[in-house]
Amino acid sequence: MLFLAAATARGEDVSVTFSRPDRPPVSLRAEEHDGRTYLCVNDAVTALDGSMTFDDETRSYEVKLKGRSAVFGLDAALAVVDTKLVSLGAPVRGRGALAWAEPEFFQKVVGPMAGLSLSWDRATRTLSVRRGETAEITVEPSVADLGETTKVVLRFSQAPSYAVEKAADQVVLHVPNARLVMQPQEKPFESARIARLVVRGGDITIVFRGKDLVPNVYALGAPPRLVVDVAKGGSSAPSGALPQVPAPGQPPASRTKTIVLDPGHGGVEEGAKGPGGLLEKDATLALTKTIQEVLQRRGYHVVMTRLSDATVGLDDRAAQANAAKADVFISIHCNASRAATAHGTEVYYLSLDASDRAAALLAESENATPALTPETAEKNAAVRDLDLILWDLAQNQHLSASARLAEIVQADFNRLLGITTRGVKQAPFRVLVGVNAPAVLVEVAFITNPDEEIRIGSDEFRRQTAETLAGSLDTYFRTADSVAPVPYAPKALGKS
Ligand SMILES: [Zn+2]
Repeated sequence: MLFLAAATARGEDVSVTFSRPDRPPVSLRAEEHDGRTYLCVNDAVTALDGSMTFDDETRSYEVKLKGRSAVFGLDAALAVVDTKLVSLGAPVRGRGALAWAEPEFFQKVVGPMAGLSLSWDRATRTLSVRRGETAEITVEPSVADLGETTKVVLRFSQAPSYAVEKAADQVVLHVPNARLVMQPQEKPFESARIARLVVRGGDITIVFRGKDLVPNVYALGAPPRLVVDVAKGGSSAPSGALPQVPAPGQPPASRTKTIVLDPGHGGVEEGAKGPGGLLEKDATLALTKTIQEVLQRRGYHVVMTRLSDATVGLDDRAAQANAAKADVFISIHCNASRAATAHGTEVYYLSLDASDRAAALLAESENATPALTPETAEKNAAVRDLDLILWDLAQNQHLSASARLAEIVQADFNRLLGITTRGVKQAPFRVLVGVNAPAVLVEVAFITNPDEEIRIGSDEFRRQTAETLAGSLDTYFRTADSVAPVPYAPKALGKS
């Protein structure tokens, strides 16, 4: 609790000037601690017309600014901006609803959210908006109607910083210091929800059909993209979900829970292959679709990271989960073993250290990315290193919940299969690293075992697996809502 005391101690009061070219300068509260200046985040957010809230239970702050959001806590040197993890030099300091952060926080989090580039001058204690040079960025849009949602994907020649401005019948994405190029400048679309897209200067305007549509904007990397999911507002009910049918015994929980299902592999990445030729990527997709149906029938809101045989990057899967504000993330895979007799279900959650050698090998094969150009491979390696630094920041805060979910799922599958020996394992699965929610990876069966390969392809297996997983989630949420969250203690999680 030493840390808590340090975090709440008052420093020496000073004042900082926030200077902008378009408005008169304002003064921000600030404190000095050990020669370092901490600026009041609340003051800066207010000056930029944003809002900020503090959640006492999770001791975390949420900033809303220009249609974007950032979440950060007091314990980790990390902020989650929309879907992206941003690493900081030090955690913010908090005193109740007030948060105090070093200038770096404003340069990496607050500025980019507002579409501003900020500079800090220590001598004059001035935070100022920098006028940047104009970059030429090309935009390639595509629009697809997917059931109740329309997805607008904007592909950029370089990663843009952006701010979002929502209106009743359109959304405008402001890309500062950029000249955006799209040919032609205005494109009409046949979509059910999107009428047209207009690019002018540094602005992209997406014009809706109708006034009751709500956009959700998030970024994906490699290649740099912004995704705008447009759906009807007002109802949080899952698309296509039947009226909520309580599970036997108790219903899940009061609020509709969002489950992100991740069918492992896809596209050029086939995953493991059975002796009879069944591909893991096909098996996981078919199985996950059945799980989706069963969960929706039970009243869960389900988001899938892929709906077809598509190649989806591991980071994009995590980004989609974060964009959907997942309550739980489940990645579905089929196991592989040199021993043809290996069988049963294995449930994993994240650890940098594998719980045994087999788990380490499995993680290595699941983390493998398909045929990459040397350039992408290099970029991916860099991202992986970053992830390994960030892992204990994003997934770490959910590890005790992930472990609890994994235990429930493993126990339910052991009961289904009449197995007592399989226990939950830990391994460094990259797909789980960036997920800002309780997350597990389930290896449902061994595709390399001829008997299990046949079972995996059967309707009965899909139905049983889906019902079992749904039961596990019911149990998880039922107990999660009644049990106080237990702070994760890294030391307690040794190798098992
Ligand atoms: Zn797999």
